[in-house]
Amino acid sequence: MAKCVGRELVEARGMDVDSLINVLVERALAEMGNYYYFTLLRIHLLGVDGEALRRIIEQVREQDRHHFELLVPRIYELGGRLPETAEQESGTLGALRVLPVEADVPKILPILLQAAEASVKAYTNLCAMTIGKDNHTYNLALAIRQDEIQHQVRFLEMLGRGAAEPRLQTSAEILLSVAQLGAPPAVVRVGAGA
Ligand code: ZN
Repeated sequence: MAKCVGRELVEARGMDVDSLINVLVERALAEMGNYYYFTLLRIHLLGVDGEALRRIIEQVREQDRHHFELLVPRIYELGGRLPETAEQESGTLGALRVLPVEADVPKILPILLQAAEASVKAYTNLCAMTIGKDNHTYNLALAIRQDEIQHQVRFLEMLGRGAAEPRLQTSAEILLSVAQLGAPPAVVRVGAGA
């Protein structure tokens, strides 16, 4: 492998860079998979009784595409690369993979929530993996995690508006788990360069 300064810097601080690259690639494919899925879902919800959800999906979809674009440069800075075929992509959809786009809104929401929760967990793990060892990736993961928490909250709010009672209990549990994760530092720097 060609000499990679980004990789050497992080390795010097005790990071297992190969494992980190694997996680980042997995995350990038998951974000792309979400984007793809939300694209289908958004089309399906057009003109259906799901206008409010469609607006949320629209924003979440854009953010997940942005997350993909944030993750990719970091993978290459660390000397990794994206797979040339996206064969594994369907495997990274997680909870969303089992969701038919034809499902109605009350059925869709809990699954979207579950997927958002899985994303928050994945980025929390990425933060734990990189803290003190790779500041750039840590800040990146923290900022994306913040967005994923927002997605979770928005799905929770929708559930609260039109949900049957059993979901409300789950919502409260998830809100509690978000609170337990703690608030990120006030200043989060993400971006090109650095
Ligand atoms: Zn995302």
